[in-house]
Amino acid sequence: MLQTKLLIIGSGPAGYTAGIYAGRAGIEPLLIEGIQPGGQLTTTTDVENFPGFPEGIDANELMDNMRQQAERFGTKILTNIVTKADLSAQPYKVWLDDGEEIQANTVIIATGASAKYLGLSDEQKYMGQGVSACATCDGFFYRKKVVAVVGGGDTACEEATYLAGLAAKVYLIVRKPFLRASMIMQERVMNHPKIEVLFEHNAEGLFGENGVEGVHLVHRRGEADERHYDLPIDGFFLAIGHKPSSDIFKDYVETDAQGYIVTEGSSPRTNVPGVFAAGDVADPHYRQAITAAGSGCKAAIEAERFLLNAASNG
Ligand code: NDP
Repeated sequence: MLQTKLLIIGSGPAGYTAGIYAGRAGIEPLLIEGIQPGGQLTTTTDVENFPGFPEGIDANELMDNMRQQAERFGTKILTNIVTKADLSAQPYKVWLDDGEEIQANTVIIATGASAKYLGLSDEQKYMGQGVSACATCDGFFYRKKVVAVVGGGDTACEEATYLAGLAAKVYLIVRKPFLRASMIMQERVMNHPKIEVLFEHNAEGLFGENGVEGVHLVHRRGEADERHYDLPIDGFFLAIGHKPSSDIFKDYVETDAQGYIVTEGSSPRTNVPGVFAAGDVADPHYRQAITAAGSGCKAAIEAERFLLNAASNG
């Protein structure tokens, strides 16, 4: 069994930043980095919007730098996954994949979220070569090019509008005959001269020799009435929702209807004292590396204060 004053679960910008701050505060946190060290950002290539890197930085390098920075200040990093948690009473307990138990006085949940994909094998084939689930991260690479966005919710409309500011043309591929997004987002999309909405369309596959060159589409106009055709595009963006990685904490920590951890106002405090949530697992709106890093910082400061209060009261 391992014991720690602060357990950080997750190794994206939120987790590592929490490690840097808590480490510098002398807490010696333990960080579990999970199956995707570095988190979602490592699925992209260059990061050009993280402040401090005027020429941009390779996403893996950025995350590796954060990891090293956290380690430099005494954060102990374990490559393992948390499979179970008991946050019913202090000390809080979690169990790792190999059965090891960890007891912690405070916990920062920074497990992130994962973008949903359609499940096409071509999505994996062209990952980083024309397939993306983050317009803000990768849109810049499609300036004056033709892209498609899949989805009909607020994210899809927001991403399509963002991309339309850069790309020559944006197709929005929507499976239903209507958009699900809020009215203002729908209006923005429907009135944008560069966006064309393809209602009742499904993407069935992608093609291209060196990266994505087009999408195989089917237009469904009734049960037996389908038209298959190919649409040339340079980029294929998924915007069909995200799934926050909060399942193992849900019995203890309050979550919203989509599974995002609910925090108190703009703080990282959850309904469980001493348990904090940072980054995308608690953020359905911004989902950026820099906002995740900021919330990781806040969570570490909160954990430090919690530990100080507990020490002075006990
Ligand atoms: P949503 O769940 O709202 O929308 C997902 C969209 O993807 C729907 O149009 C859905 O279609 C479509 N979709 C899902 N699966 C598939 C599939 N397999 N094939 C094709 N299409 C599919 O997710 P969002 O990420 O858009 O939004 C999540 C939450 O965050 C919402 O509450 C939203 O309002 C909020 N949000 C708010 C923003 C803002 O206020 N600025 C910005 C972004 C998000 P269908 O409709 O047919 O189910």
